[in-house]
Amino acid sequence: VPLRAFLPDLLVADGRVQAGAALVVSESGAVAAVGPPPPGAELHRLPGAAILPAFASAHGHSFQRALRGRTEWRTNGSGVRSTFWTWREAMYAVAARLSPDDLHAVARLAFHELARAGVAVAGEFHYVQHDPAGRPYADPDALAVAVVEAAREVGIRIVLLRAAYARAGAGGAAEPAQRRFVEGDPAAAIAALERLTGRFRGAAGVSFGLAPHSVRACPAEWIRDLAGEAARREVPLHLHVSEQPREVQECMAEHGVPPVLLLARLGALGPRTTAVHAIHLSDAELRALAGVHVCACPTTERNLGDGVVPADRLLAAGARLSLGVDSHAQGDLLEEARELELHLRLVTGERAVLQSPAEQVPPGRASGGARVDALAWTLLTAASAGGYASLGLRGGRLAPGEPADFVAVDLDHPAVAGAAAEDLVPTIVFGASSGAITSLWVGGAPVVQAGRAAPGRAPEVEILRDYRAALARLRA
Ligand SMILES: [Zn+2]
Repeated sequence: VPLRAFLPDLLVADGRVQAGAALVVSESGAVAAVGPPPPGAELHRLPGAAILPAFASAHGHSFQRALRGRTEWRTNGSGVRSTFWTWREAMYAVAARLSPDDLHAVARLAFHELARAGVAVAGEFHYVQHDPAGRPYADPDALAVAVVEAAREVGIRIVLLRAAYARAGAGGAAEPAQRRFVEGDPAAAIAALERLTGRFRGAAGVSFGLAPHSVRACPAEWIRDLAGEAARREVPLHLHVSEQPREVQECMAEHGVPPVLLLARLGALGPRTTAVHAIHLSDAELRALAGVHVCACPTTERNLGDGVVPADRLLAAGARLSLGVDSHAQGDLLEEARELELHLRLVTGERAVLQSPAEQVPPGRASGGARVDALAWTLLTAASAGGYASLGLRGGRLAPGEPADFVAVDLDHPAVAGAAAEDLVPTIVFGASSGAITSLWVGGAPVVQAGRAAPGRAPEVEILRDYRAALARLRA
């Protein structure tokens, strides 16, 4: 069958919600059209469902899923108060023990949770490279490969952002807990990128980028080299930027400028760059982020007490917003999307703070249907198209030629029931959890159906069994 037509009750595309329109998918897994089902197409009716673009988590560290629920204490047995830095110690303790098999099992559970939440692509910021003693594995890419295979078995796309990590901070050698992350020079990360790209050439849904970890963990010359290499190869460049005030103070002390201005000086800011977090910013830094991707990770940022991403000022400055689950403290892109706005309401004491620049609101090319309010559309775009763009991919838009990555939302779910076309997207973005998402297709192929792994994907019983076994080893 050359064409399949998916016909839901409501279809969200191009800033509009339409009834009676089908998503027509070509044999190659791309969107062929949005409109009436064409004669001869294989018709897939989705009664009681709405179709939306699938989501992208542009930033995450899948192994940190193993930490969920383990760091929510106030003081530990030694009377130490919980902070970002004690959380990091707990994260290092998990990272120190992880074998390639453990990582595969934890990542597979994390990606399965994301798939059930409608996430079609994960950006994996991958910084655990070596064995627990800090030596390369016989296969130097064993851990990166374990994560990539986990995503493939679940059925989602992955963009592995191969990190580079040099040191604990300015003038400081790496701490023992960081020995699995560190390498002697940036060429090691570039060589790994080269090997991985060759190894997965032709593998659908797998691509790579470079990720100097942060201005704390990489000296300036490393960042300059890696940014140049990413530009030459036309691959994404991701960095953690200004998550904690201490990182900004240390950057000022070492370089005399805050992190974003350092990146500008090093030629590291461009249309392929993503600044992850970007919370503590000066006005000059905001201006420097025009045209640059910023990945907010609100559920992690609130969990760690990092602060609130100034999404309103970033949008006004021309930055491009995306979202990520980062620490996998939660696995729900709808929650990430609404927090981008709701955190700002708490800070400003106002409602409806985010205002999208005009170009982000589609001019209503689709005929008919109800127009989605700009605020909800801005949040949905950050959760979908914004993340794809940050990862160097097309997608997140249901338009001809784009990949057919889409989700079905249950219109009978109590969180969504009763929504009219014009309030469907705000209802989902502000009021529904990932539990209202029933199915996910990636490149037109089913990945999750009726809330369960689709046939041909890694079965849930196996995913859960392996994950529990890995946790038992990590906590032994
Ligand atoms: Zn991160």
